[in-house]
Amino acid sequence: MHCPLCQTEYKDGVASCADCHVLLVTELPEEPDHPMEDLVEVFRTSNPALVSLAQSLLDSEGVPYLLASTPDPFTTSDHVFRVSPVQSELARMLLARLEEPVAEGESVGDEKEPPAE
Ligand SMILES: [Zn+2]
Repeated sequence: MHCPLCQTEYKDGVASCADCHVLLVTELPEEPDHPMEDLVEVFRTSNPALVSLAQSLLDSEGVPYLLASTPDPFTTSDHVFRVSPVQSELARMLLARLEEPVAEGESVGDEKEPPAE
């Protein structure tokens, strides 16, 4: 539960904010309390599997992040992770391992060896 005004987090069962005297909401509206331009893009993918992996990595390290999806239906929907500049180095390090594509029988190079005559 969160107060929509002061954004204080409360335990379940609490109905209203002790400070603001307004009803708590379960989910805060999508309203970033820091401006987007302060955040640093650390990871971008169109692969939903990588999105959840990245989320759990960041969660496990307690790195707050903002996940945005490009709402353009004409391009591949990209999911962009942004974190505050102080966390960007850690986040990049964590997410760097996700960049490695899983080997799935990818053909290495295009070298055909014609039989030597
Ligand atoms: Zn409040």
